[in-house]
Amino acid sequence: MLPYPLGDTPRVTVPRERARGLLARHPWIFANALHKPPRNLPAGAVVEVVDEKGRFLARGGWNDHSQITVRVLSFADESIDEAFIARRIAAAIARRAGRLTASDTACRLVFGEADGLPGLIVDRYGDWLVVQFLSACLESWRPVVSAALAGLGARGIVERSDSEERRTHEGLEPRSGLLWGEAPPATVDILEHGLHFGVDLLTGHKTGCYLDQRDNRAAVAAWAAGRRVLNAFSYSGGFGLHAAAAGAAAVTHVDSSAAALALAAANATANGQDGQEFVAANVFDALRGWREERREFDLIVLDPPKFAASRKQLERATRGYRDLNQAALRVLAPGGLLATFSCSGAVDAALLQSLVAAAAAEAGRDLQVLQWLGQPADHPVLLSFPEGQYLKGLLMRAL
Ligand code: SAH
Repeated sequence: MLPYPLGDTPRVTVPRERARGLLARHPWIFANALHKPPRNLPAGAVVEVVDEKGRFLARGGWNDHSQITVRVLSFADESIDEAFIARRIAAAIARRAGRLTASDTACRLVFGEADGLPGLIVDRYGDWLVVQFLSACLESWRPVVSAALAGLGARGIVERSDSEERRTHEGLEPRSGLLWGEAPPATVDILEHGLHFGVDLLTGHKTGCYLDQRDNRAAVAAWAAGRRVLNAFSYSGGFGLHAAAAGAAAVTHVDSSAAALALAAANATANGQDGQEFVAANVFDALRGWREERREFDLIVLDPPKFAASRKQLERATRGYRDLNQAALRVLAPGGLLATFSCSGAVDAALLQSLVAAAAAEAGRDLQVLQWLGQPADHPVLLSFPEGQYLKGLLMRAL
């Protein structure tokens, strides 16, 4: 289905009294803000948003399957066409100029709403690109996005529109596979701060790996020399490998997935690192076991998966973060460091901090914050769209 040409653009009305978010340039319009929403508009159609007097407010993509019924593409009175989408993509990529270097060969090129392309993710892994269409708004521009990306000189483009949210939130079928060009090898070798990581673009987590932790891995590694490091929720080993390269005394990776640990072990080998410990276990169980053995670590990284997918799960999630941090503090040596993260959008930085404070109190420990951690510059947060700030962390010292 092709987007409507300008002129035929259907109009939807948001009365001014319900347009507070929109006037603050927040790019989501919820179903309940719309006055007499039209029926039978196809998902992805471009609509013009006006107030009750017909005054222009924005243009965006329609999807009444979603609570987020309109995703704003522009607050300016400009046409939304192929050239517009191509311009937005080019601008996002231009903003990342200089991020890719000989020792850092992967980065995010397009980060959805923060780059004015709601629901579109594009990551570069060496000579390959990975794209995710997470909204009907951008799904309808898929051929245009593909053509724009194909012109960038990559060897191939992989599509990973296979996130569950695509189906549950947007009503779109999952899709993944080669989108254009040459198929990537089973693992694409990338460099992150000079270390090698093999990334499976077709089945790896997210678009292949956790690019969003790049700067935090370096921040934590800066404290690793001489320390016994526990890399909990290791996935492909990132935090632990950087710690080892920075002179850690020992590194233990824990993950419940044997496949993730195999990746981590292969990555350690690829960097000439040996002697690391790989533990396939539930982190909660492993921490309990070590406490019983009175085993200690001097630097613990906790980077769990999202505990809260939505506000509804917040209560369970807050308990999870508190218990996890408390259990980690019980195996943290005096003077040890704890780097703790949450990638749940529903848990903001203030809540994370108060949860960790509660965990420390329960464990009878005093913690100093050395550094507040967040997203790297290729995952920027638009001030008008705080929902884009999902990753936060604290690097702390136990007294
Ligand atoms: N720190 C990693 C990313 C972690 S992603 C990095 O820097 O790349 C979260 C990981 O936690 C996944 O690999 C998943 O397999 C693992 N995981 C999820 N729940 C777990 C649990 N209860 N115990 C151990 N590992 C778990």
